[in-house]
Amino acid sequence: MPNGAIWVIFGPPGSGKGSQAELLTSALGVPHVSTGDLLRAETAAATPLGAEVAPLLSAGELVPDDLIERVLARRLARPDAAAGAILDGYPRTVEQARSLDRSLAGSGRRVQAVLVLDVDEATLLGRLLNRAGEQHRTDDNREAIAERMAEYRERSEPVVAYYRAQAVPVLAVDGTAAVDVVHDRVLQALTGLSPSRTAP
Ligand code: AMP
Repeated sequence: MPNGAIWVIFGPPGSGKGSQAELLTSALGVPHVSTGDLLRAETAAATPLGAEVAPLLSAGELVPDDLIERVLARRLARPDAAAGAILDGYPRTVEQARSLDRSLAGSGRRVQAVLVLDVDEATLLGRLLNRAGEQHRTDDNREAIAERMAEYRERSEPVVAYYRAQAVPVLAVDGTAAVDVVHDRVLQALTGLSPSRTAP
């Protein structure tokens, strides 16, 4: 785990986490680290790990924690993550959030803030089906989308309450607008944090 600032961007599939995290990298001075992108890179490179996770990804099911943590640790060990990272797609369960907290606590740290993108389900479905035509992700089809939404509601949504209970700042942003408009809202939400949290 790098010594820098760890931010979490959170929200259902299709809420725009990847786009917003990319846009935030310059404001926060840390790279965007998406566990989904890391797993897709493994499958594209046909590594043994990629072969193991490919069927889970296609079905929209969660990958076992030990695999995720291995992939994440490898990514965070790269030099650009020494300053920290914006995590996208992790933590996805309360157990993963606890595990992240334990690693940060080792150096007296905690998550800087959790940005939650709120988007209604009809908009999410429209965006994901639209992305299916553009990016050809194996999990952007109706069946896998339904599974991912169910995983999100049952296993990921409780992560927000977990962070609130830990007194980690949770910043909810309306993600139902164009990417640049949502980015402005995100920046606005971050200005509400204490300066020590936002300093790169
Ligand atoms: P995403 O790109 O974040 O939508 O993730 C795509 C897929 O990768 C998910 O549907 C899961 O199969 C897997 N995945 C990504 N992050 C995690 C995680 N933190 N825990 C378990 N599975 C994950």
